[in-house]
Amino acid sequence: MAWKIELGNSVVYGICDGSVARDPLEYLIGSTSADWAMHADALDQAGLMVNSFTCYLFDTGSDLVLIDTGFGANAPEGMAAGYMPDELASVGVSASDIQHVVFTHLHPDHILGSLDANQDPFFVNATHWTLKREVDHWHATDDQRAPRVLSVVEVLEGAGVLNPTDEPTPVLAGVERIATYGHSPGHTSIRLSGGGDEVIVTGDLTWSPVQADHPEWTSPFDGDPAEAAATRARFLDEVTASGTPFLAGHHPQPGFGRIVSTGDGRQYEALPVSDA
Ligand SMILES: [Zn+2]
Repeated sequence: MAWKIELGNSVVYGICDGSVARDPLEYLIGSTSADWAMHADALDQAGLMVNSFTCYLFDTGSDLVLIDTGFGANAPEGMAAGYMPDELASVGVSASDIQHVVFTHLHPDHILGSLDANQDPFFVNATHWTLKREVDHWHATDDQRAPRVLSVVEVLEGAGVLNPTDEPTPVLAGVERIATYGHSPGHTSIRLSGGGDEVIVTGDLTWSPVQADHPEWTSPFDGDPAEAAATRARFLDEVTASGTPFLAGHHPQPGFGRIVSTGDGRQYEALPVSDA
């Protein structure tokens, strides 16, 4: 079910492509059973960490911007994912309506939905934004995901719709990219603003609300664990000081919240969303 938050006259829709449930000890390296006993509310009834695959549709009134695409038509067999096209349709948007697709980074769960089942571009009228350093990384790495990632890059390049930039320049007014390298070499977060309000789409900076007080816990998908942890710690310091709310696509739905100080630490505070 899609949901929304409003920023002035602009609207951010949460478009959930699906989710998986994972062993928290395996997927947040550094955490212990004792830690999770204190954070049982962050796990499901089976004691697993639920990771959503959430994309965000930003409607400024004049432009439609999609941040990340989930797996879409290319969801792995057996995974509860691939719902992005239906979720878009549920808010009255078709793929051809979208002018900009912004990738936080080029991991498969963020880009495979940009192709249809025939491996052609799905968002036929959209410019697809990423960073050159992110594309360069996938050409240079022996990561086993690289062939699949590059297959998407090559289709988008071939169609002339990929726009890899040197710097994380703004996409348009109210859609500003922020360098948050570490999870991947060209990982960016996206600041959305409207009507004096703002929210940050964090990409893969955090995987669970419990990382609010444990930025050192890394995911096995953090490409450079030390840099990812340092970037996460810096981001959490900044949003604790500023109070800026953020949208974390891999947190359980809806994943909209902020960080508050608790005296001896800090904690994640969920914020409400509306039905779309
Ligand atoms: Zn991810």
